[in-house]
Amino acid sequence: MNDMMKNILLWLVIAAVLLTVFNNFNTPAETNRISYSEFVKEVQSGQIAKVTVDGYIISGNRTSGDTFDTVRPAASDPKIMDDLLSNDVVVEGSLPEQTSIWTQLLVASFPILLILAIFMFFMRQMQGGGGGKGGPMSFGKSKARLLPEDQIKTTFADVAGCDEAKEDTEELVDFLREPSKYQRLGGKIPRGILMCGPPGTGKTLLAKAIAGEAKVPFFTISGSDFVEMFVGVGASRVRDMFEQAKKHAPCIIFIDEIDAVGRNRGSGMGGGNDEREQTLNQLLVEMDGFEGNEGIIVIAATNRPDVLDPALLRPGRFDRQVQVGLPDIRGREQILKVHLRKVPCDDNVEPKNIARGTPGFSGADLANLVNEAALFAARSNRRLVNMEQLELAKDKILMGAERKTMVMSDKEKLNTAYHEAGHTIIGYLMPEHDPVYKVSIIPRGRALGVTMYLPEEDKYSVSKTGLESQVCSLYGGRIAEEIVHGFDGVSTGASNDIERATSIARNMVTKWGLSAKLGPFAYEEDNDSGGYIAGPTGGKANYFSPETGKIIDAEVQDIISRCYAKATEILHENRAKLEVMAEALMQYETIDAKQIKEIMDGKKPSAPESWTDSDSNSSKDSGEQSSDNFSSAEVDSSLNDEDEVPDQTSKPAGE
Ligand code: ADP
Ligand code: ZN
Repeated sequence: MNDMMKNILLWLVIAAVLLTVFNNFNTPAETNRISYSEFVKEVQSGQIAKVTVDGYIISGNRTSGDTFDTVRPAASDPKIMDDLLSNDVVVEGSLPEQTSIWTQLLVASFPILLILAIFMFFMRQMQGGGGGKGGPMSFGKSKARLLPEDQIKTTFADVAGCDEAKEDTEELVDFLREPSKYQRLGGKIPRGILMCGPPGTGKTLLAKAIAGEAKVPFFTISGSDFVEMFVGVGASRVRDMFEQAKKHAPCIIFIDEIDAVGRNRGSGMGGGNDEREQTLNQLLVEMDGFEGNEGIIVIAATNRPDVLDPALLRPGRFDRQVQVGLPDIRGREQILKVHLRKVPCDDNVEPKNIARGTPGFSGADLANLVNEAALFAARSNRRLVNMEQLELAKDKILMGAERKTMVMSDKEKLNTAYHEAGHTIIGYLMPEHDPVYKVSIIPRGRALGVTMYLPEEDKYSVSKTGLESQVCSLYGGRIAEEIVHGFDGVSTGASNDIERATSIARNMVTKWGLSAKLGPFAYEEDNDSGGYIAGPTGGKANYFSPETGKIIDAEVQDIISRCYAKATEILHENRAKLEVMAEALMQYETIDAKQIKEIMDGKKPSAPESWTDSDSNSSKDSGEQSSDNFSSAEVDSSLNDEDEVPDQTSKPAGE
């Protein structure tokens, strides 16, 4: 459709050019123009032989033969006729040019047409290509993409690690296959299913698998597609989508990110958003309008069920919720198996081991991991993916891609080595702390160095001791710098550590009820303002008086200063090990749990497995560094189970 618009636009431009050129031909060349007074003088002195009067323009020949023209002044000059005739000048008139009414109309309306065309062109652009349906006038047509049943290859076998969700949706397949069976029995089938869960956990995949299993068409649209600039467009898209769906019933409509339209009405700042509200209302009307037995099932996905308008969740609408959570260790293993099936694998590949080392990974992260591993294998010209590449891929996703091209001065490197060694030693020695899995001073992502902790198993809660240990290890980096260089030599490298330690300490006091003085009360709550008023901190709601506020601050400070003192003490006691570890890091850049243990046992660390001398500067994974906007003030971060996988690397690989 865009092509057609482009064609129209092109023709309009050509027409405009032609018209201008044509107009220019019409105006006589202004060569021998003389003033009117001169013309009168020449007439009176008998120099003029012939004139043609055409409106204001008088043109003609002199007796000498050359041509001229002049413009008659607005005030007509009746005397001139007498002069002309008395001087034997041949006078001719000229009829006004006969342009057809159609041409005139066209010329007159041309600018308007042009503006309209441009306007429509941009409307189309904004709609982003549309679904290939409808002409240029179809603003309101739904942007839903239809996947016909014979093109859906996804089945339940492709979805792993969320057995409960699968069970919850199995009966839908049955219903979609044979709606009449249910209609006969008068059974009530849900019309709307809400899938709740973090991004990348397979909500879309599961919805598609239901369609694939039931062999019915699959409509997808994202909530944000409904929200347009123009009031009414979203609503008409909803209407259109349901109309189309009815034609294809039985079928599935999948609305991704329903929170984009379905947010609680009136929760936005400065009143509501008319367009969004209209769209939501239309959606509610449509949901109410179709009979549950028509064979249309609407599946919506969100990771914020709490912000949805309650009206959406009423009976007859999205009244059934299916939780699709992050996979546990068994789930991860199964998901890995699903994706490893698609690549040629070496016999040594152990999905279980990778699953153990990837707590917090979503299905999409795991798909990405397998994909990255395949890329690593391809880069080193291997036919099979083996464990080594899977480990590399895991590190890349967990810690960000290595930036081997980034040049750090030796001084900076040494400082980073001490810093990371500080984190590691504290993390190693504190009780209930996740074991250190790897330390590296190779810059990754935006971090100068990384200390990675991995829990031995999936963890769903942390004890007070564990939290304090985390605060201690977070300060370990900065304290190590302080011990080595003195307070004046401390770098800005710890800003992220400090931020995270402070946030843990504050949450201990205000959210998790871990302060004896303040007791188990919620003083702060993550505020849901739907992203409208949330500041950079995400927006917090406070429930305390100024006096309590002071006590909170004092308690937070108390936790932090206790942990800081504790960590300082430990590092002083282990000063010699700090030196050995920093040295090992300078030599090998990355050391693993094995070397860390050796150092902590007072031994000389062996060379890490991955280490070969020639390897140090190899380019085996060049091509993944990007040196854009690196800011040297953005520094080290240490990850552990509390963390989400870093955003920049957790792109889903599939589809
Ligand atoms: P969501 O809709 O929850 O954000 P998707 O369904 O789009 O997540 O998942 C993206 C990709 O991640 C899928 O195409 C698939 O390759 C992979 N994936 C996610 N979850 C799973 C899972 N449970 N089993 C297998 N693969 C998964
Ligand atoms: Zn640090």
